Amino acid sequence: MEPNLNKFLHVLVRDVLSRSDGTYTIEAKRRDHRHLTALRDLGYVAGIELTDSAFRNFFATFETIDCPASVQKWVNDLGACVTWKRAAGLILRQLGEDSGVTRGEYVFIRDGANLHTWFHELGHVVFDRINPDHVAMLESEVKRHYRVRSASELEGGTAHPVTNTQCHPTEGIYLTMNGRHHGLDHSGKDAITDEMWAIMFGTYCSGLDLKAGVRVVVEKIVSSLSASIR
Ligand SMILES: [Zn+2]
Repeated sequence: MEPNLNKFLHVLVRDVLSRSDGTYTIEAKRRDHRHLTALRDLGYVAGIELTDSAFRNFFATFETIDCPASVQKWVNDLGACVTWKRAAGLILRQLGEDSGVTRGEYVFIRDGANLHTWFHELGHVVFDRINPDHVAMLESEVKRHYRVRSASELEGGTAHPVTNTQCHPTEGIYLTMNGRHHGLDHSGKDAITDEMWAIMFGTYCSGLDLKAGVRVVVEKIVSSLSASIR
């Protein structure tokens, strides 16, 4: 693609990512731009919206990094299709207190992130492949063993993951586990079970404490995912 065209495409992608309102609509002020027709022909724009290819094109420009060997073992076992990228620029700024974020097959990881973060994001990558019955099973076991509450019901606030100071939780639904409150709906309401799974899978792979009932379901899901690639 012509460099100017590519540059403009990334301007459009940045607009949408900075807005983070869940829509892919091109900003009104850019809708008459002369490059739009070419981007439509290339499949990066449909009508006045960016397509998935537009985001992939942008994400692909970030530096690819290797995951730790212990994570790679899980990637292989689960047959996961994932490209690890170093969180930088706009993506890094948007991470806030998080250490990683998954966008399709791309996972962005902050420098110095702990193993738990890698496992957690790997959980997000494979979530769509989990049998819905298993997801329902996991949700009920998690709710049976851990407290899932709204921010207003939490006592004492949440510990900041880096500084460990107490901060007041922002609105949302939280899962309390091993003394920490994990936000469940920061990726949208329909992503609650996705987040629940990522937390449980990350905890399981890291060898941290997990209630037996939940562990059984996590192991069931893991073996079902592994079996599906053989
Ligand atoms: Zn997550």
